[in-house]
Amino acid sequence: MFVVKAFDAISKESGRIAITEIVCNMLRTVIETTPDDLVAVVYLLANRIASAHEGLELGIGDASIIKALAEACGAKEAHVKKQYKELGDLGLVAKASRSSQPLMRKPEALTVAKVFDTFRLIAKESGKDSQDKKKNHIKALLVAATDCEPQYLIRLLQTKLRIGLAEQTLLTALGHASFYSLRHSSPPAKVENPLEEAAKIVKQVYSVIPVYDKIIPALLSAGVWNLTKACSFSPGIPVGPMLAKPTKGVHEIVEKFQDMEFTCEYKYDGERAQIHYLEDGSVEIYSRNAERNTGKFPDVVAAVTRLKKPPVTSFVLDCELVAYDREKQKIQPFQILSTRARKNVLLSEIKVNVCIYAFDILYLNGQQLLQEQLNVRRENLYKSFQEEVGFFQFATALTSNDLEEIQKFLEDAVNSSSEGLIIKTLNRDATYEPSKRSNNWLKLKKDYMESIGDSLDLVPIAAFHGRGKRTGVYGAFLLACYDNDKEEFQSICKIGTGFSEAMLEERSASLRSKVIPKPKSYYRYSDSLSPDVWFEPTEVWEVKAADLTISPVHRAAIGIVNPEKGISLRFPRLLRVREDKNPEQASSSDMVADMYNAQKHNQRDNLDDNEDD
Ligand code: ATP
Repeated sequence: MFVVKAFDAISKESGRIAITEIVCNMLRTVIETTPDDLVAVVYLLANRIASAHEGLELGIGDASIIKALAEACGAKEAHVKKQYKELGDLGLVAKASRSSQPLMRKPEALTVAKVFDTFRLIAKESGKDSQDKKKNHIKALLVAATDCEPQYLIRLLQTKLRIGLAEQTLLTALGHASFYSLRHSSPPAKVENPLEEAAKIVKQVYSVIPVYDKIIPALLSAGVWNLTKACSFSPGIPVGPMLAKPTKGVHEIVEKFQDMEFTCEYKYDGERAQIHYLEDGSVEIYSRNAERNTGKFPDVVAAVTRLKKPPVTSFVLDCELVAYDREKQKIQPFQILSTRARKNVLLSEIKVNVCIYAFDILYLNGQQLLQEQLNVRRENLYKSFQEEVGFFQFATALTSNDLEEIQKFLEDAVNSSSEGLIIKTLNRDATYEPSKRSNNWLKLKKDYMESIGDSLDLVPIAAFHGRGKRTGVYGAFLLACYDNDKEEFQSICKIGTGFSEAMLEERSASLRSKVIPKPKSYYRYSDSLSPDVWFEPTEVWEVKAADLTISPVHRAAIGIVNPEKGISLRFPRLLRVREDKNPEQASSSDMVADMYNAQKHNQRDNLDDNEDD
């Protein structure tokens, strides 16, 4: 009850500081009274049941929840479905249909531990009858739920809690709470703002080891100031991959990295992979989102096992897996890779071969390398593996600060089917920064220079029916970016071009099953748009555009660049569907605002250049 009251309080606040405070107070209460519940409370707040790499999912659809809800409150399934259609939110249906049936015996009140344990039980049910068993677990929870508990139970089960609490805010609150409550040690003397520092430590540790089951016991026993020591990188658990910032040209790079040594690498267009090889010979492959991908790449498991040099007993590799034609000895486009099955791939049935392009090593023979500079990590990488064309290669690299040479290298990269370059600092400010979009990694794609810079990853939230030739499919879609602070999708443009007929059919068919009766409360758009259908946020589309403009209609980045107007894209074109991103990982409003500002800046530069002429 305490937890759902806090959910309620959080969802009524919109300011990040106020939300952090509520969550912090809540966590402090838990730490003081029932510290054993802290792991469960934090997971519930994050609306997860386990960390991503464990691959544990509830595995229930709306149908099971509707069944459980109907049974729990003695209603007909059809009635629940009808209400769902009307209210557009199963949580609200649950709230409205709180059982009016008298119970023989009042069930025991729900506790955090009970709810969380049941969630994990639900996830672990498998095999025959598992849907039925899952439904019965849900029903038992719903029968015991009181007040606003049913509403939040349902939202948690649908993994759509959406109370406006971003994970970074949760981590900040956890840092604050541990500063106030866990006085195991005092902050080091040089720390000026211990509250901020405590939050920073928790976030940093989470980026290296994103597992609450490990961090929270360590926090409780060692305190926040010793957390980094108590809870560090551990092979077998994926760290958040380091990310790159976009740049628009070789000039900008040379400017940014003045007086620094840097190296340029081909930017391969495949799938990011973090490969963990443990002392016992076991191998796991993790995706950009820390999901376990091992079943998709048995050939990669075989290749690293075969091509590691004899003294190597354990490692964590950061690399790109790229589709490769071994006969022609050529890299193949990303689209080919995406045709590979996702699970239980058999070595004997592989049609699309991949080559591992290794660019970093984070751990070797029991030693962590994250704090080492890139030149040291690279030396370790080079000496640990045997290259074999088409199976395992090191990312092609050039170390130079000659503008022309870099330009030529960029062209070579593009000519050999890479997207461009990633430029990295080499021996100063060159440690591996987990989860960070770092200034020490810059990306340069050939086509940045001709347009607004990077492409955007956007979520289709609505569509307009097609007319004429496009009758029967959607004619245009409404796309949105994601505001991490407000946790809302903000409309950014309509898109109707750049689709082949087949693509349009495919997207229409896939989204048709995602239609919802009315827009979500966390969609921001102008009423003047009035699309024909709204969608559940499910897909992420990579889109290119000619430029960004301030718009009275769209709501992207509203309040950042202009207090009342948003930003929209002109001439958007669909490039591809991003299977590896979920909607919350779409381009953020901050990034849209940055791109807009950068464009303004560039236009001004161009103007200045022209004036000089
Ligand atoms: P995001 O930055 O959000 O991940 P994205 O997935 O579109 O966006 P980019 O930022 O365009 O990726 O580029 C970074 C990605 O490039 C890495 O995640 C990695 O998958 C890939 N990549 C290819 N070659 C390299 C390389 N040599 N070094 C680092 N990353 C590389």
